[in-house]
Amino acid sequence: MARIVMKFGGTSMAGTERIRRVANIVRKQAALKPDGTRDEVAVVVSAMAGETDRLVNFCREANALYDPAEYDVVVASGEQVTSGLLALTLQSLGCKARSWLGWQLPVHTIEAHAKARIEDIDSEALLESLGRGEIAVIPGFQGLSGDGRITTLGRGGSDTSAVAVAAAIGADRCDIYTDVDGVYTTDPRIVAKARKLKAVTYEEMLELASVGAKVLQTRSVGLAMKEGVRVQVLSSFVDDNATPADALPGTMIVSEEEMNELVEKGEMERQHVTGIAHDKNEAKIILTRVPDRPGAVANIFEPLAKASINVDMIIQNVGRDKGETDVTFTVPQADLARAQALLEDQRGNIGFNRIITDSKIAKISVVGVGMKSHAGVASNMFRALAERGINIQAITTSEIKVSVLIDEDETELAVRVLHTAYGLDAKDEAA
Ligand code: ADP
Ligand code: ASP
Ligand code: MG
Repeated sequence: MARIVMKFGGTSMAGTERIRRVANIVRKQAALKPDGTRDEVAVVVSAMAGETDRLVNFCREANALYDPAEYDVVVASGEQVTSGLLALTLQSLGCKARSWLGWQLPVHTIEAHAKARIEDIDSEALLESLGRGEIAVIPGFQGLSGDGRITTLGRGGSDTSAVAVAAAIGADRCDIYTDVDGVYTTDPRIVAKARKLKAVTYEEMLELASVGAKVLQTRSVGLAMKEGVRVQVLSSFVDDNATPADALPGTMIVSEEEMNELVEKGEMERQHVTGIAHDKNEAKIILTRVPDRPGAVANIFEPLAKASINVDMIIQNVGRDKGETDVTFTVPQADLARAQALLEDQRGNIGFNRIITDSKIAKISVVGVGMKSHAGVASNMFRALAERGINIQAITTSEIKVSVLIDEDETELAVRVLHTAYGLDAKDEAA
């Protein structure tokens, strides 16, 4: 007997037909095995694809300056609908199933509405229910704050709900079912020659997710790494003859030790670059003629930090002769207007000349643990982009990642060029 958490994303839950397909996958996982045992199965679901966007728009229409606590009440409803529908569909297939809303378990979170973090999950009642052979259906994305109100975890948060449930009940595996059959070397919707990875390390997946590979929410990977949850990414768009999840047809997220074993056994190749991701959701801000003296940069970034605006890339140009310099940085596009207003407000204190903003930018990142021990990954990137006339506006690096900022229109071209340059293209695919 194993204890399995299965998570189904928005595309998988979009409509009663697809929910029926999901219910069949769940039914098979929970069915009696040849050895006479049954798995204990908890399912975490997203809202139907597009539903959360629709609900967010309602909030904006109702009140442009909406109260995040009420926003959470509205947007959490999408998952309530799908969890009930899946429980109903499972019952129609003869399975014992019931839903557990975030406040019923409960999933305790901090108060930060619209971007809450899970603190812990009460699993006692859930475990008793699983022990009685009931399939638990849990809406992802939602929780309960200390002051008794509904919270949500931030967009894409159902992945994190699933990993948190898996950690809380000590699950043997957390299967994240989505609309692609695993984690690829890059978004398979952009590069037809992207290759599916049999395994990827937590560290690499964390970095890939944080730079835009939306297949898993970043926080879910961090939590899985911390709690040692075994995560598999696989497709829900499969027919009756598909390889069962227990045979691991998807991509496993593994520790570095497990990866080394896979490499030794010849099941994985060690590459310098494992994957490439892009992110079009950042915006660039340039402040011109900032005084070139101690404290000037702190005056820029302190007000942004206080307003919880995350600054990503930062470049301070070499000082001009008049003791002035230009400072360039990026912020999430959604925070651009707020950042601009804050900076204008602080104009006297900071002492810049102009603010120039640009939302038509994209960040392209190459990620791989192989970079730790191999020089030249960054220079290969710069050369490959230069050969296609793609201009680099900013650069950041970490131990296992190099990111560059480019014109948004060149995103797809840059990802393809780099995918080929690092030898990641699938060999058997026609050009
Ligand atoms: P869900 O609704 O199931 O949560 P998401 O849309 O959040 O699904 O994530 C799945 C999508 O992630 C895929 O359709 C794919 O376009 C995208 N994606 C981006 N990068 C990758 C990658 N490296 N591997 C696989 N999918 C990726
Ligand atoms: N429905 C939520 C969203 O779209 C959470 C999720 O699907 O993971 O962000
Ligand atoms: Mg998702």
